[in-house]
Amino acid sequence: MKIAVVGTGYVGLVSGACFADVGIEVTCVDIDAKKIEKLKNGIMPIYEPGLEEIVVRNYKSGRLHFSTDLGEAIQGAEVAFIAVGTPPGEDGSADLKYVLSVADEIGQKMTDYIVVATKSTVPVTTGEKVRTAIKTALAKRNSDLPFAVASNPEFLKEGAAVEDFLRPDRIVIGVDDERAEKIMQRLYKPFQLSGERIIYMDIPSAEMTKYAANAMLATKISFMNDIANLCERVGANANMVRKGIGSDPRIGNKFIYPGVGYGGSCFPKDVKAIIRTAREYNYNLRVLQSVEDVNDDQKHILAAKVKAHFGDDLSGKTFAMWGLSFKPNTDDMRESPAAVIIDELRAAGAEVRAYDPKAMEEAREHYIFDKVTYCTDAYDACVDADALLLVTEWSEFRIPSWDAVGKLLKNKVVFDGRNIYDKKYLDSLGFVHYGIGSK
Ligand code: NAD
Repeated sequence: MKIAVVGTGYVGLVSGACFADVGIEVTCVDIDAKKIEKLKNGIMPIYEPGLEEIVVRNYKSGRLHFSTDLGEAIQGAEVAFIAVGTPPGEDGSADLKYVLSVADEIGQKMTDYIVVATKSTVPVTTGEKVRTAIKTALAKRNSDLPFAVASNPEFLKEGAAVEDFLRPDRIVIGVDDERAEKIMQRLYKPFQLSGERIIYMDIPSAEMTKYAANAMLATKISFMNDIANLCERVGANANMVRKGIGSDPRIGNKFIYPGVGYGGSCFPKDVKAIIRTAREYNYNLRVLQSVEDVNDDQKHILAAKVKAHFGDDLSGKTFAMWGLSFKPNTDDMRESPAAVIIDELRAAGAEVRAYDPKAMEEAREHYIFDKVTYCTDAYDACVDADALLLVTEWSEFRIPSWDAVGKLLKNKVVFDGRNIYDKKYLDSLGFVHYGIGSK
């Protein structure tokens, strides 16, 4: 079986490599020639645990190819996945220009029946737009080659993407063509050895499922952050409350950790996009509007705590920051709370000494520029800093040498944006500890 994956980012590269790993011949296509060249040389454009090994192994085996030529990649392919970005437009709606330009190009270059499956997160009605774009391109060539469109939203998590793809909780396929359904079933068979995991549905429902899933997860986070903020005011401890409610299986213990807000390339943009879709249909998604409002405020919580301790004017102060990526095990800086916190500290006159195990190159190149020193390790970041801010809960920050940290910092003050440290223990060592959702 042969397939093409168009867009070689977090989703496309992981999907392509994992499909190749189960024996499928895959060509990953991207318009970014530098990225394709790097991949051919075994250099990963992103950090994702386990990705390099699986990419290099399958590239060497000859099952995984990289190309900038979409026409060549879809020759003989039974499925072409669209896995390009769908960034938010100015009004919050998903910008479909990359998706539709790929659909148009497939229509221009296809030579046989093909299933065009959208993996990018796209709003309801995109399947129809993709179909129209392909038909229009075919009509321009006076061709009426048959094809099918399908929606196959991706649920992998950055930081565990390879594992999620190889062992998915579920595979959602929106399809309205029997031949296409059979092809998708054959393609995904190796990923569901331990039971039936494919959920077939119509295309609009598949498109909506992805947004509803991300919106629900974002809701859990904002709900808990809202409760945590109230806990602080009434003298309760949000960590205890989390354990108390999470033990109820109807609630579950995942995604209810108070913190500095959700970030990344998916939750913020997908919550915005579903709100925008609802507006187009004259419906107001009130819950999700609040989810977004709470999250926007939550990204400022840690800087507010710093100011409550040190005063609003932070000139002359330096802060150590542990973690820049929006979550551990990724170098993704998109919508990271760290960028908001650094901006706020800098605006108040402070300097920042930052360290992140994987995201510093990404931060340095694209996000955070002046008044930030990128440090060689977690302890280097603490040198002569007025306090430590923990922003991303990488494992290596979990049990630091507090003795060393205490000696390096000017003041033994820790702002724990992810509640990973034990307050009582830090108190006993003479630190002042500020967490989220407790006094
Ligand atoms: P990304 O920005 O990492 O990668 C997109 C890639 O598409 C880039 O390499 C870009 O050069 C390429 N591209 C753009 N136009 C192209 C074209 N015409 N032809 C070929 N390549 C082209 O994006 P991503 O994070 O992989 O996300 C892709 C989609 O998947 C988005 O819709 C996103 O919402 C969705 N998604 C992302 C995640 C995630 O965790 N990142 C998870 C699930 C779903």
